[in-house]
Amino acid sequence: MIEFCPNCGMRLTLRRKKDSKEYCLVCAKCGYERQVEAPILPASKRVTEVKQEDYIVVIGEREQKLKTLPVITIECPKCGNNLAYVWQVQTRSADESSTQFFRCTKCGYTFREYS
Ligand SMILES: [Zn+2]
Ligand SMILES: [Zn+2]
Repeated sequence: MIEFCPNCGMRLTLRRKKDSKEYCLVCAKCGYERQVEAPILPASKRVTEVKQEDYIVVIGEREQKLKTLPVITIECPKCGNNLAYVWQVQTRSADESSTQFFRCTKCGYTFREYS
């Protein structure tokens, strides 16, 4: 919002009073001054709301991340190995439970838990 001086028509400048939280509109030409209740400055910082679903990271697509995954004792249906990495993939819908995935440490075969 731009306000103009009622005396000379100059554009008023918003100034903050010293040692005060009050603001005033000042005319640089004739010295007109008008106190304003709140700054008419545009909001410079806007808080961006981050949707919760953006935080859900689907692991399993990147192989290098598997190194940090916990290992569980489960039989690989392909090679019979008894160790597999385990991770969970959370579905986007909050109602559905997450699905557990396993990846054989020996042959790399990925399989999921069937309930
Ligand atoms: Zn003026
Ligand atoms: Zn295997």
